[in-house]
Amino acid sequence: MTGRQLVTDAQNTWCPGCGNFTIQHTLKTVLSDLESQGKSLDDVVLVSGIGCHAKIADYVNINSFYAIHGRAIPVATGIKLADKGLTVICCVGDGDAYAEGLDHLIFAAKRNIDITVLVHNNRVYGLTTGQYTPTSPLGFAGRSTPAGTLEYPINPLELMLASGATYVARCYTKKMDQLKQVIRGGIDHHGFACIDILQICATFFPMTDYYNVHTYELPVYDRTDLSVACEKAREWDYNQKNPIGLGVFYQRSFPTFDDRMALQPLQKADRELVIEEFLKSRQ
Ligand code: SF4
Repeated sequence: MTGRQLVTDAQNTWCPGCGNFTIQHTLKTVLSDLESQGKSLDDVVLVSGIGCHAKIADYVNINSFYAIHGRAIPVATGIKLADKGLTVICCVGDGDAYAEGLDHLIFAAKRNIDITVLVHNNRVYGLTTGQYTPTSPLGFAGRSTPAGTLEYPINPLELMLASGATYVARCYTKKMDQLKQVIRGGIDHHGFACIDILQICATFFPMTDYYNVHTYELPVYDRTDLSVACEKAREWDYNQKNPIGLGVFYQRSFPTFDDRMALQPLQKADRELVIEEFLKSRQ
């Protein structure tokens, strides 16, 4: 059987050395693997937002939808609710998901909608030439903050854990094998998967040397333990000295929003089951 040609004719305009190339290549590899294992790629939809990352929708030959800034996640949610049989992958940027679209991200995690979100977190607005984003470190000197930011970066993983996401992970574009495994894990996970990907912006925030020193692979622990996952997530680099863990921080099964939608109106027994599962997942 010949696999689908995933390369498109679109001219690639990413800068040389951009981490988006890695994410694109890895996603294509994961899709090819899925297809060779029997999945029809006609049942996969890629949704992207606005930003450098979003061009991935032009470069991967599957069904795709360009949403407006910050609104990729509600579009992905709508697609999943319209057809539960689809595998919905949502590529967003850090400005896209952690600023403009933050409320949508939190509500998707809270609902546990069965989609996979890949956050291309380069910690800078690259498309608009280098302004700070919610994850830029304190003191980041960009086009809008030439003297350096006065704000600490938000911690996306801690936020996702607190919001109810059931698959929470961080990867780094220089660690491709792990990136591939974690993206595949997120797609296979039945529930809301948020994968924060430290993506190198070669032009406006080249962090390769920094991440090569500060990142480490998470040790073995019980991935259903929310307390340990939170503890590991809190190692985020607020002071630019902490280690930055890579891998799956947390994974737990919990009834998805799309499953509950199919059951509605929830009967008393269904409600009690959902409440019981929720309380277990918060332990
Ligand atoms: Fe990539 Fe940065 Fe260039 Fe955008 S500006 S294409 S994120 S290297």
